Amino acid sequence: MSESFDFDLLTLGAGSAGVAASRRAAAHGAKVGIVEASRVGGTCVIRGCVPKKLLMYAAQYGDALREAAEYGWDLAGAAPRFEMARWAARKAAEIDRLEGAYRQWLAHAGVTLIEGRAQVVGPHTVQVGPRTLRARRLLIATGATPVRDSIPGIAACPTSDELLDLHELPSDATVIGAGYIALEFASILARLGVRVRLVHRADLPLRGFDQDLRQRVATALDQAGIERLAGQGVKAVHGEPGRWVVELADGRRLAARYVLNATGRRPNTAGLGLETLGIVLRANGAVPVDERLQTSATEVYAIGDVTDRLNLTPVAIAQGRALADALFGPTHRFPDLSMVATAVFTLPPVGTIGLTEDAMRQRRRPYRVYEADFRPMRHAFFGGAERCYMSNPGRSYGRL
Ligand code: NDP
Repeated sequence: MSESFDFDLLTLGAGSAGVAASRRAAAHGAKVGIVEASRVGGTCVIRGCVPKKLLMYAAQYGDALREAAEYGWDLAGAAPRFEMARWAARKAAEIDRLEGAYRQWLAHAGVTLIEGRAQVVGPHTVQVGPRTLRARRLLIATGATPVRDSIPGIAACPTSDELLDLHELPSDATVIGAGYIALEFASILARLGVRVRLVHRADLPLRGFDQDLRQRVATALDQAGIERLAGQGVKAVHGEPGRWVVELADGRRLAARYVLNATGRRPNTAGLGLETLGIVLRANGAVPVDERLQTSATEVYAIGDVTDRLNLTPVAIAQGRALADALFGPTHRFPDLSMVATAVFTLPPVGTIGLTEDAMRQRRRPYRVYEADFRPMRHAFFGGAERCYMSNPGRSYGRL
């Protein structure tokens, strides 16, 4: 390493992507620093997947309690009630524990953690508060954050970040959007007893997913008692916490105690200073990278949600490890993003991988869809409506 550099690699952002890359690079013998402005662990651990899954488990216990009597349990003496504050306290302790584990992993790997907001001020140079750090290579892994300006007035509404910090559930909630976050929280809140209304502008939720899946997800949301306003744009949101009015494109005005803004996420690049390196960001702030995760600036790389490709934790981790291996280790293999499994934690959940049937059709080659749609034994036992659907649009090897 040249004398003038503090690090072989300086990673900006200690989320799933940045931590994975930094630990792997350090394991290859590189001198690594990682800068984090908030809590170590990033979106997935601190305000995303992990607390969301913990809330989903809470919702599933509610289902189990309701179904238990059907299975012979006598719960007559119990009056089950979900207390969000108790969940919140346990959740906070668990997130603290996980953040501690992440910090330890970094320390054990020999990665230097620098706490503060990073700003790139020139080639190889990053400012963190009063400190100027010089690194041979820079890795941008600053993640993404909820979009707060998609609809006039929506900036004042909570996003998933704030929802996961609630200590008390609202009695009703209007969820705007129909992507991962909207559907997951609509499902969870409904299972926890909140009256949920979902407003989405396409005719079906989960744009881009297979049509059969979208249809069945819509049915499952309806069966969960969620009021779904499909094909509805939102013109504006007015009001204040506890007293919102959602103004629809068709002029209707809907009152809501709680409005969840689930209208997407945006890469965290504002104020990062990447323009000083000549990097031209995409319109939504994403950092463009080539297939080797290299930006347009020499020795500057980007991984994870900040690149806005497939915004999934396992992808971010795989990219981080692959990049560290390529820069400091013996292998040069980068993840193929064309075949990545994804799950949407609705209740019941969705899992999917590969081409949708629409994509198969566009290829103009023969294909067959193999599918099964049934009521699982667990639900059939007590006459529950929940169904299981599996399908596999695949190449056809026989005659159609
Ligand atoms: P998504 O991009 O999945 O969904 C955004 C939703 O907001 C879409 O339904 C979109 O509608 C809607 N929307 C956007 N702008 C407006 C508007 N002006 N008015 C009304 N509706 C609007 O974003 P999420 O925030 O849900 O999730 C972000 C990413 O995070 C996901 O893509 C996923 O990669 C990742 N994630 C993964 C999870 C998992 O693995 N289980 C869980 C949570 C997040 P339309 O479709 O009409 O454009």
